[in-house]
Amino acid sequence: MNWRKKKARKIAWERIQILFELAMEEGKKGNFERARRYVEHILNLSTKYKVRLPREMKMHICKRCHWILIPGKTSQVRLKKGKVVIKCLNCGAYKRYPYKK
Ligand SMILES: [Zn+2]
Repeated sequence: MNWRKKKARKIAWERIQILFELAMEEGKKGNFERARRYVEHILNLSTKYKVRLPREMKMHICKRCHWILIPGKTSQVRLKKGKVVIKCLNCGAYKRYPYKK
């Protein structure tokens, strides 16, 4: 990978982190549509620059409807057989992750 691409990815990653924080903030305030726009931005950047989103971020994003997932607000979190099961309260999609302490 050349230098320019590396730099572009770094900038994309920085923007993703800022957008994620903004999305979480809006989600906590109940502005879910605004949060969704931030999430869509994140997903676009991630695809365009091939930036892998960390697990912590993915757990807060519904891949189906692009809602920000906030436990007790827009998502339901359950522990089941050593797995974290996250349900999106907007579209009903489930996400499963192995439980990690
Ligand atoms: Zn959803």
